[in-house]
Parts: sequence; C-alpha cells; structure tokens
Amino acid sequence: MNWLTNWVKPKLRELVGGQKDIPENLWLKCDGCGQMIFHRDLEKNLRVCQHCGHHMRLEALRRLETLFDGGAFQTIELEPSPVDPLKFKDRKRYTDRLKDAQGRTGRDDALIVAHGRIGGQPVVVAVLDFAFMGGSMGMAVGDGLLTAARLAKVQDAALIVVPSSGGARMQEGILSLMQMARTTIAVEEVREAGLPYIVLLTDPTTGGVTASFAMLGDVALSEPGAQIGFAGARVIEQTIRETLPEGFQRAEYLLDHGMIDMVVHRQDLPATIGRIISLLRNPEPSAEVVPMPSAAAAEVVERARPHPDDEVVEVEGEILPPEPPSGDGDHGEGPPRDRSPRDGSRDGSRDGSRDGDDPRG
Ligand SMILES: [Zn+2]
Repeated sequence: MNWLTNWVKPKLRELVGGQKDIPENLWLKCDGCGQMIFHRDLEKNLRVCQHCGHHMRLEALRRLETLFDGGAFQTIELEPSPVDPLKFKDRKRYTDRLKDAQGRTGRDDALIVAHGRIGGQPVVVAVLDFAFMGGSMGMAVGDGLLTAARLAKVQDAALIVVPSSGGARMQEGILSLMQMARTTIAVEEVREAGLPYIVLLTDPTTGGVTASFAMLGDVALSEPGAQIGFAGARVIEQTIRETLPEGFQRAEYLLDHGMIDMVVHRQDLPATIGRIISLLRNPEPSAEVVPMPSAAAAEVVERARPHPDDEVVEVEGEILPPEPPSGDGDHGEGPPRDRSPRDGSRDGSRDGSRDGDDPRG
C-alpha cells in the first residue's frame, strides 16, 4: 500500500488542488455516550462531551490555557537532568524512547511548570503531560517539581499540581522511585512556607505519582470520571480474587469514600481554584465585622425561644430521613454539582473571550 499512499495520493491531490487542508478528524466519537461531536464544538466545550458530560483528556498546554486567567501564563525553563543513568534497554533503548517522545511533544520531559494568575491569585502550576511516556515520573519530573515548589516560595504563590500519569518511570529504576520522596519534600517546603498546595487530579493518576505528591494536597480536586488509584483494577482483582465494586477508582467513588475533597466540572475549575486559594490565603473576612445592636440581638434570641402556646408532639419510633423528590432522580451516583452561583459570571467572561479561538490554528 505504500506506493499508493506515498505516490498516488499526493499526485491525485495535486491534480484536484486545494483539497489537502481538510483536517482528518472533523468528528470525534465520545467514549462516554458514543455520540459524534464536531471538533469545534468539542474544543469550545474544553473537550467535554455536550451530550453526557464525559471529560476527555486535555493536552498539557491546553490545560494551562484553560486554568490561567485569560489563558495567559509563562512557562519556565527546567534544568536538564542526567539522561539514562542505568543505560536501560527493554525492547527499545530508553534514550530512543526519550528522543521519540521529545520529537512528538517538543519538550524535554513530561513536566511543564508555568506561573501566572488564577482568579487574580498568583500561582505556580506544574502539569504532567500524559503524551510524554505516559506522564511518568523520572528524575526530570522530580527536579521540575522541586523547581516549581521553590518558584512558588520565591513568588509567594500557591502551588498547583495537575498530575496525569502512569506512575514512576521504570526505565530509571530506583532513581525514579526516589522521586516519590523528593516530591514529597518539595510539597513540604511549600507547606512550611505557609503557602497553599492544591492538587487537581486528572485522568489517569496512578502508581508512584498517586503514592506521593498527588495525594498530599491541602485540597484535592478531581475532574469527573477521572481514574485515580495505585495499582490497576485488574491487578487488584487478581490478587484479592474478588470482584471490585462499580465505579472503583473513579473520582466520584473516591469522593464518596473520603479520598478526595471535590469533583469539579472542567469549566468551573478556574473559579473554584481561585476561590479556594483566596479562602486559604485570606482567612479574615474582607469586610469589617459590625457587632449586632443589643436590642436586635435580644429580639433574635426571643424569637428562637419556644412559645408556651406551641404544641409539642411526641413522636415514637425511628425518625426517617426525608424522601427524595420523585421524578428523574437517578442520574448516576455522584453528588450533584454545585454550579448555580457561578454560572452567570463564567459564561460571560470565559466563553465569551474564547469565541474567536481556532483550536487548530
Ligand atoms: Zn458523551
């Protein structure tokens, strides 16, 4: 088939002329509901399916764009790390794998560190790029996270880490596992400086990354449906010889079981992160606290007191929780997303500013 694609196809294109700029994937199929989505709609919707709300993976730079105010941020250059200390080779040399990934992604390793503002608050954001060897954590990522933590300290900014990773990079052996301790120390440095450290877990976060900095956030957020765990579900099932519950290792399941604090829709992430940082950094109320006049206070207390005419009914037996409202109450298991107060401002500012963007341009 090679001569067909390499020789005949270009010749035909030349004959037809002007047809070669049509992108090949105008329509994408949603993994969640199977519906076809037009690529422009998908990009406009931050790669969230408009039919079922399925969050598709986001490219690392696009992730930064969606988080920072007005999509404006500066990336910093990370120091080069020693390459292939173990001279590792499996089916392929590790150096070849690295070159491959560097060629495809255009960056040296799996971590990008950027700084700017979210919700008006100064932040340093470190994002793992899953496209670079599965976002795996080797020495370069460990170094990068330390750099990010120290930059946050210098800038007196919050540190936000966005993992999407298969875990430690096995090609670096024990040296990659040591990064679990190093990144933990990096997080500790931020904490000692009294700065917030927030983790935004994205699909997938597994292995040594979950076992280190990804689970140490002051506040742990996650995108809906993200897979977060240490070992894979199949491995666990084979080890314990039991069937795992539905939704195991998904963000909503972890929220229900207290492993993470919030599951936040992608569109609400900047506002939520901005609010969390503002709450963590300015615990004092922004307005002056005015004491209640004593007369008004007395009235409030008086009203709260039971009146002698109030009828007291004694109830025997068990008190049941109120029944949920009937109707379409069974939309999945996750808790309802709280998005009412922010919707207006978000639609006005973010989506509006993005309208003209050409995702392919
Ligand atoms: Zn869908």
